[in-house]
Amino acid sequence: MRIRLDRTMCDGFGICAKHAPEYFSLDDWGYAVLVGDGVIPPSDRDAVMRALLDCPVHAIIETPDAATRADEPATVAQTTEVSR
Ligand code: SF4
Repeated sequence: MRIRLDRTMCDGFGICAKHAPEYFSLDDWGYAVLVGDGVIPPSDRDAVMRALLDCPVHAIIETPDAATRADEPATVAQTTEVSR
């Protein structure tokens, strides 16, 4: 699981830091800061999902992780022949 935090949406309720303090801290004004690179191991998924689902402004967003991206179809490269 991978997440990102949209700090422009955060209203500083602090719920995320309560549910998953290893991944969310609060700055001096009480707004959330993502700790780490957003990659969440399976063992911490439940706590982070609780934070994600309880965030009242939906500032925590799940993003496709590397395994999911690997399953996406590759972009087909186009070639252009130039005749002279
Ligand atoms: S729960 Fe949402 S609104 Fe509250 S501090 Fe965390 S990210 Fe911000």
